[in-house]
Amino acid sequence: MTPASDSSALLPLYTIRPLPLAYVSQDMGNFTYRCNNGRRIDLPIFAWYIEGGVQRVLVDTGANAEHLKKYRGFDAVDINTFEDALLRVGLKPMDIDVVIQTHLMIDHCANTRKCGRARVVVQQDELEFALAPHPILAPTYIRELFMGLNFHLVDGHCEILPGIELIPVPGHSPGCQAVSINTAKGRAVITGMCTVRENFEPPAGVREFMPVIPPGIHLDAVEAFNSALRIKALADIIIPVHEPALVNVDRIP
Ligand SMILES: [Zn+2]
Repeated sequence: MTPASDSSALLPLYTIRPLPLAYVSQDMGNFTYRCNNGRRIDLPIFAWYIEGGVQRVLVDTGANAEHLKKYRGFDAVDINTFEDALLRVGLKPMDIDVVIQTHLMIDHCANTRKCGRARVVVQQDELEFALAPHPILAPTYIRELFMGLNFHLVDGHCEILPGIELIPVPGHSPGCQAVSINTAKGRAVITGMCTVRENFEPPAGVREFMPVIPPGIHLDAVEAFNSALRIKALADIIIPVHEPALVNVDRIP
């Protein structure tokens, strides 16, 4: 077990509560670069509640079927409304103090505006990119979902709250960040970049030449590969943001 920092014994011990919101029908090749092309999968979209601190913190606010259909034309079905998902942890959207955005692609920020009291923490270069995205990623950034939010901009690696660190993981998008959370079982890392478990544990036949698989959707595949490697080296518990097996998990750890 790796402590989140030298003083981790003094830090809060958090629990991560996966809040699944919707399934979206996708080609697995969008998630595992050069692997699984043509394989359809119902991929879950999550928000993550960080339980155990003074502040009420969400990592991402996900998206629901209506957003995915309206803005992307995707075939999607709801698991829970955002409001019902939050009720599972005893909260309403206006109770949230802090939303940490791993990045600003549609499937990570579509409900953020509902958290009207929250500070919205994002890397400065992610917001800059979201406002003027490169054409190859432009369809995944929907201005009206994030314009005018109460942004708190950060620049690089920082501890945003005791035991909660933001770790830049560029490549998927320029300002993508992972979130490292101090838990009773070490450092849990919400990957930020749109990945599943297989990205970090490649199957036989792939792992012999790639210890991690970069996300299929990326601005820079090599940077995304290096970011995934960093997460793998750092984390005691990896939480890939679209991992199907986490839909039925109530708490981590
Ligand atoms: Zn995603």
